[in-house]
Amino acid sequence: MNEILIETSARHVHVTKETLEILFGKGYELTKKKDLSQPGQYASNERVTVVGPKKELANVSILGPCRSGDQVELSATDARSIGLDIAIRESGDTAGTPGCTLKGPAGEVTIKEGVIVAKRHIHLTPATAEKLGVKNKDTVWVKCSTNGRAAVLGDVVVRVSDSFADAMHIDTDESNAIGATPGLMGEIVKEL
Ligand SMILES: [Zn+2]
Repeated sequence: MNEILIETSARHVHVTKETLEILFGKGYELTKKKDLSQPGQYASNERVTVVGPKKELANVSILGPCRSGDQVELSATDARSIGLDIAIRESGDTAGTPGCTLKGPAGEVTIKEGVIVAKRHIHLTPATAEKLGVKNKDTVWVKCSTNGRAAVLGDVVVRVSDSFADAMHIDTDESNAIGATPGLMGEIVKEL
């Protein structure tokens, strides 16, 4: 069976060390709340407010560790609600996406771009990718046999790396649309 664990990513922010220090103060370090499925990645205790042209979203968690660029990952519902255009992108591909202001307890940072609605994707180890017959950057379908909202999701990008653990990531809009529950397994289908 070509099964993959489906995990829901809530809205979150990635920040650089420089941005973190502006938001929380000089020398500040993120504190770990819990580990995420991807090795080395964690949810921190630190929260920021994401400010858009129409509204703001409070208590958005920062995922650690710090990265080389600031990035805000929202659902399409979130982006629309705060007055931003929806840019469905892979992580790191932020050129030309909307910006916003991030507010922390010590200061605020306005980013010119970096607000994305993450493109749904599957993280795979090289071993699993080989077993499934897929490679990095392939696009697949994933059949989700939920109770009452069964669906097949397309445009799912495969990402393969030694540093990954096998898991598919969708946002809260997608999760609600298919009626996902914790532990849901999807079936990878190469062609519909
Ligand atoms: Zn992911």
